[in-house]
Amino acid sequence: MRTQDGSTQETGRREGLRITVVYTGMGDPEVHAAGCADIARTMKTRGVSSEELDAADARAVSAHVYADQIDEGEDVDDLVAALSFKPCALAQL
Ligand SMILES: [Zn+2]
Repeated sequence: MRTQDGSTQETGRREGLRITVVYTGMGDPEVHAAGCADIARTMKTRGVSSEELDAADARAVSAHVYADQIDEGEDVDDLVAALSFKPCALAQL
């Protein structure tokens, strides 16, 4: 599901927001638009990982990133606030 096969589906219709979550290892996970130049810059730091996903909105990003906490009873909307949405992502939300 998260493979990047670069096939023809890349262009045209959009089934949601294509974003990249950057786990900095300290501080809140950063949410960028996929392909944002800041991702590569941030990834140079040791211990940083990232994950691309399709999300319909901010709430969907939270539901994905914090799936474990939500399973334990935390509120998905509260957890949206724990994500650091960057301007590149906000422009698409
Ligand atoms: Zn960005």
